Amino acid sequence: MGQLSAIGHAVLAELDRYREATRRGDAPVVSAMTIDEVAEKLGLQQWMDRGDMGVTELVSFVSHYCELATNLNHPRYMAHQLAPTDTPAVIADLINSVTNNTTLIYEMGPGGSAVDRAVCDWMLAKIGWSGTGGSTLTSGGTLGNLIALLAARSYGCPGSWRDGNPPDLTVLAAPSSHYSVRRSVAVMGLGESALWPLETDRWGRIDLDRLPAAIAAARDRGRRPIALVGTACVTASGLHDALEPLADLCRDEGIWFHVDGAHGAAALLSPRRRGRLAGIERANSVSWDAHKMLRTSTLCTGVLFRERDFLDGLFQQQARYLFRDESVDLDWGQRSFETTKPVLGLKLFLTLACRGEQALGEYVDQQYAKAELLWELIDQRPDFSCPYRPESNVMCFRYLPAGADQERVRQRLRSAGRFHLSSTRLDGEEYLRVSLMSPYTGPAELRELLDAIAGCGVDAK
Ligand SMILES: *Cc1c(COP(=O)(O)O)cnc(C)c1O
Repeated sequence: MGQLSAIGHAVLAELDRYREATRRGDAPVVSAMTIDEVAEKLGLQQWMDRGDMGVTELVSFVSHYCELATNLNHPRYMAHQLAPTDTPAVIADLINSVTNNTTLIYEMGPGGSAVDRAVCDWMLAKIGWSGTGGSTLTSGGTLGNLIALLAARSYGCPGSWRDGNPPDLTVLAAPSSHYSVRRSVAVMGLGESALWPLETDRWGRIDLDRLPAAIAAARDRGRRPIALVGTACVTASGLHDALEPLADLCRDEGIWFHVDGAHGAAALLSPRRRGRLAGIERANSVSWDAHKMLRTSTLCTGVLFRERDFLDGLFQQQARYLFRDESVDLDWGQRSFETTKPVLGLKLFLTLACRGEQALGEYVDQQYAKAELLWELIDQRPDFSCPYRPESNVMCFRYLPAGADQERVRQRLRSAGRFHLSSTRLDGEEYLRVSLMSPYTGPAELRELLDAIAGCGVDAK
């Protein structure tokens, strides 16, 4: 196949074409083909059988692949919380692939270990935990929440790593918390029923008035709460739990406070928005996905601890062929669930190095402002309603005319390749839901969205 640069040039030119077309919104935002049609169109079986793809065919494959992609940079992409990647992250992925270093032990990737440490320190500093805090990078907020809850269990019940769980351990979390919290509780062997469901308001925020009674009730039933999970922001509604009062209560009750900031911790970078996260610095742990709001490719998650010591109890098994006693600062495998894993921090490092922290903060700010604009536009229309003022770039709303089926509206727009939205249930009702991720979405697309829904929603019963 020849030199990387020759192939790379041809492939990158094709990817540039794809990106430009996507940003202009020329192509459908999402493909409507079935998986078999897609496999056929890409000639997957044929190429695996033949094994002789040359550069010209490779470029044509890339072109077809991109044509079928779900286009995150598209101005009418509004569906899921994934970053429309920026160039520095793309370059990082290339570098990672060519060097294929890992951070398991220092000697397997000196550059990568230093980069991951620098990125972790940056995240800690954003929360206000420089110097005292400790952190690790992992593959997604789902694993991040598991790692934080493992630390909480080590803290509240140090013998559990060796001896297993006593039957009374309990995690306090709202049903609206991300499903990975419930999954972690089950994976840790506490049993799914060890998740004590906290009451919320209609939009999924923990009800502070009823929280003290809930904790007392859990204790009366002989449960031992080892952690309380607050969410910033709640996946379905995009609203934030009130972190400051949750921190107060956890301090008074001696309960580990975990903030799932997978999506919303990025608002720490926006002077206008960071007030929503007040109290995050008083948590014991925070998870924060760079691949949501920091323009990096998947995956890059920081699991951040207020105190460095919290990392020590995390994974207590010995692997003497890899880790020496003194190596905890160098060998990141001791603080992460994965064994072999890529240098996760490189894409965030290059994004910070090439774009600057301020530009990331402005991106967060702009995307959040777009949700406010959509809220205002909805407020002016009698045929739509939005139940709350959005606090992030995630929000829910309904198309009101009698009999309109929100999910069917969404499917219509998606199969036409026109808009890509998601939907959710809130307060017992179906809602349309947007995650405004694309930097290229503007007021025109938001107006067009409402018109398009009204245009196809009438007979979508
Ligand atoms: C996205 C998200 C997660 C899961 O993170 P992944 O990176 O997808 O594993 C967890 N919690 C919240 C609040 C999220 O928004």
